[in-house]
Amino acid sequence: MKWKCTVCGEVFNHLPEVCPVCGAQKTAFSPYEEQQPSFSKDTDESFVIIGGGIAALQAAKAIRARNKTAAVTLIFSDTKIPYNRPALSDVLSGELKFSDIVLENYNYYKNNNITLMPRTKAKSIDRAVKKVVFDGGELAYDKLLLATGATAFCPFAVAEDTLPILTVRSFEDSATVSALIDKGSKRVLIAGGGILGIEAAVALNSRGVEVTVVERGTNIVNVQLDAYASGLLSEHLSQNGIKILTQTTVSAFGTDGVRLDNGDFLQSDFMLVSMGVRSNIELAIAAGLPTNRGIIVDDYMRTQDKDIFAAGDCAEYYGRAGGLWIISSAQGKTAGAAMCGDLSPYKTVPFATAFEGLGKSFFSVGSCQNATESAIFEDKQKGIYKKLSFKDGKLDGVILFGDTANSNKAMELVYTADIETAKRLLL
Ligand SMILES: Cc1cc2nc3c(=O)[nH]c(=O)nc-3n(C[C@H](O)[C@H](O)[C@H](O)COP(=O)(O)OP(=O)(O)OC[C@H]3O[C@@H](n4cnc5c(N)ncnc54)[C@H](O)[C@@H]3O)c2cc1C
Repeated sequence: MKWKCTVCGEVFNHLPEVCPVCGAQKTAFSPYEEQQPSFSKDTDESFVIIGGGIAALQAAKAIRARNKTAAVTLIFSDTKIPYNRPALSDVLSGELKFSDIVLENYNYYKNNNITLMPRTKAKSIDRAVKKVVFDGGELAYDKLLLATGATAFCPFAVAEDTLPILTVRSFEDSATVSALIDKGSKRVLIAGGGILGIEAAVALNSRGVEVTVVERGTNIVNVQLDAYASGLLSEHLSQNGIKILTQTTVSAFGTDGVRLDNGDFLQSDFMLVSMGVRSNIELAIAAGLPTNRGIIVDDYMRTQDKDIFAAGDCAEYYGRAGGLWIISSAQGKTAGAAMCGDLSPYKTVPFATAFEGLGKSFFSVGSCQNATESAIFEDKQKGIYKKLSFKDGKLDGVILFGDTANSNKAMELVYTADIETAKRLLL
């Protein structure tokens, strides 16, 4: 029997204690049976995928499940073959190495006749002759997928007289941070108190680094948590030695630290910036494809060009650009199938996050920001807080802080359950 994590959508051969991809607890898993597609069409087409992340891998798998003979090629600038990117936080903490997070080994690609072109940056797309151009060559495509992901946003310029300013998006980035710690860096300032900033803070704290998180807003993790749960998390992190400064920004840098807008100077050996991501859409723009924050796609991940598709963090689906593993994975599958001619529309997945660190877990799905009504349960002694948010009589968001046992149920009920059902099953 296989097991599927309902938070990030990953499937495993065994039931893990904690999801290795997204950190969801065991209770977030459901038994899963793999469905083979009924569609099959072997051709001699060339399917080219630009990208080496989860969207690219899922698309390649979806193509191969439907077409045994076509050429499938992944061109990607990454030096590493597709891996579990959310687990980079565990690489930072020193718990995992690359072999623990690789999604499929080289044999998988060899056995499935999928060609990998790592360290290859696509420079342009020539739509007139249907070719992808990269340094030292070009490759013709019949169908092309853009799965170029996103880049960590960093508004600060690194100069000779500044401390190292880093972001974590790739395995190499994590290795760079790890190397600094190995060489003796002991103090880090993390700019940005969103979920990824906090995960990095926990990871570095576990390595004995003195961590300060600077957040411009009033609350940390404010996309997933309400102000109250955010306060509980801040308190827990502070008790474990992570300093949280809200309503504060970085205003200047020195070689040995950072000046804050309140005038304080924080001694730091390096700064980690965690201020969101920007979709990689440059290739699409240069090729004249419609873009907004991401590359605009329809229900089948098609761009305006019938032979070019986009999926994952680089794609924008009905006004929303990716940013989550489960979305990238699902969009990759939809795109791969559609590239073969098997059109089955992408079904939106709820925006869910699981967190596990320093003995505390939380789960959040949907939104608690536009609620017309809410229901709360709290057990202060046990550090448990649960909040259900309703909009127009339907469950619109769930926060489970300190007790995430019902996260699976919350995934099932969000956007469909009425108030009474949600309260009965989740509180
Ligand atoms: C530290 C960290 C923790 C995270 N935690 C979570 C989490 O807990 N839950 C969650 O849902 N999500 C999480 N995410 C987000 C999640 O990892 C992404 O949403 C997902 O990996 C996006 O997959 P993708 O395939 O669209 O893009 P990516 O994984 O970014 O892959 C993009 C690929 O495109 C390649 N590429 C880009 N441009 C070019 C070019 N011009 N030529 C060739 N190749 C190119 C890159 O080399 C890369 O291989 C996390 C991300 C990070 C960095």
